[in-house]
Amino acid sequence: MLSKSKFTRGMNCPKSLWLYVNKKEERLVDNATMAIFSRGSNIGLLAQQYFPDGKMAVLEDYPGYESAKRTQDFINQGIETIYEATFIYDNTLVAVDILVKENGEWNMYEVKSTNSVKSQHIIDVAVQYYVVKGSGFPLKNAHVMHLNRDYVRKGALDIRKLFTIDNGMIQDEIEPIQAQIAKDIKRLSALEKDTAEPIIEMGNQCTSPYTCDFYQYCNSLLPVTEVEKILLSSTPYIMESELKTFVNSVQYPLCHLDFETIMPAIPMFDESRPYQQIPFQYSLHIQQTRNGEITHEYYLAENNPNFDPRRAFIEKLIEQTKNAKTIFVYHILFERSRILEMMRDFPEYAEDLGLIVEKLVDLIIPFKKKYYRTETMGGSSSIKNVLPALHPEFSYSALEISNGMEASNSFLGLYYCEDEETIAKTRENLLKYCHLDTLAMVKIFEVLESV
Ligand code: SF4
Repeated sequence: MLSKSKFTRGMNCPKSLWLYVNKKEERLVDNATMAIFSRGSNIGLLAQQYFPDGKMAVLEDYPGYESAKRTQDFINQGIETIYEATFIYDNTLVAVDILVKENGEWNMYEVKSTNSVKSQHIIDVAVQYYVVKGSGFPLKNAHVMHLNRDYVRKGALDIRKLFTIDNGMIQDEIEPIQAQIAKDIKRLSALEKDTAEPIIEMGNQCTSPYTCDFYQYCNSLLPVTEVEKILLSSTPYIMESELKTFVNSVQYPLCHLDFETIMPAIPMFDESRPYQQIPFQYSLHIQQTRNGEITHEYYLAENNPNFDPRRAFIEKLIEQTKNAKTIFVYHILFERSRILEMMRDFPEYAEDLGLIVEKLVDLIIPFKKKYYRTETMGGSSSIKNVLPALHPEFSYSALEISNGMEASNSFLGLYYCEDEETIAKTRENLLKYCHLDTLAMVKIFEVLESV
């Protein structure tokens, strides 16, 4: 039997459905995807508070015949709010997130952890609508309920404002494709029983909307092509006058600054919105004079979910950068946007934070504008490529945490971790990672200055 998730999987890629049914042992779910799933289920539970006092139809690990029977019993008993209401029709099983009787009419609500309706949600809701209606149930309308990007937390979560419900747009999209859904169910039901593995080329569907859990399997089947080894030159190509103008514009004391952020779907702190980036760590290398001593400072917030990291972050940052004349960041859009958000959310610090913004200079400029390039940079201006091209002895790959996403997920994981050893080790890894980002900037600028 098909389920909603098998159906949407098959619509994204028929081979993925076939593998899921016939070669499940090849499935590999990465940590980032696991985090998305667990975020989705937490948001699903919160959304139930929007329609409180409902009955849960699924008491087993997965929805099945028992939950479908329970749903029917609830309806017969006059229950008007049912969570995970399960229906079966046309060899397909769906569990509706929330089913509610409103003003005598039944509506279904599909909860999504995004902050807008996405194109992939249409198929998802359309198949549920098809099954529920097809089973003979008098469903009026289907809706998507998602996080409200404009909600600003102030005190306890306001569930009615945290979520927003589409205004009939989904209904208009799913009605016209009901006949097509019936055909797709037939096609995918036949495909999952096929004995031969479908032949599908890898493409966009492998990484969008999520990275496919059979990615490694499919990738391993690709023919191995002999790549001719080309020795890339590390000789720099330099636009000297442009580079000198950039270097001479830098004033000491000079700071090298890098932020790390978390992006909680549900706002954890007052004055924050769904998916807002909350800075929790920075690294700062400070040089008083050219060729002078370099000192290192940092901030890493407490891993306590009741502690908003931003106020202490701001105060320490203002104090530690107040004497700087130039503050280097790498890819200015990120740090500048975070500072502007903190100016909005903490207006009492806006003036001092504004001074920091005025001093920001983007160290990516000489590499983006090709004032300095080597073949070993591979045409990239990312710090992850520039650093090893200039200083092969430094590498991110040796670190346990080696990119911003890992840093973010690691810190979020600490909020609910009780093992002291894991907490200490993770904090140490976070410090090492962020430290390397600003040390990299120091080393990169040394090379530019030496030209
Ligand atoms: S990796 Fe790509 S081609 Fe392979 S099953 Fe997944 S989506 Fe399909």
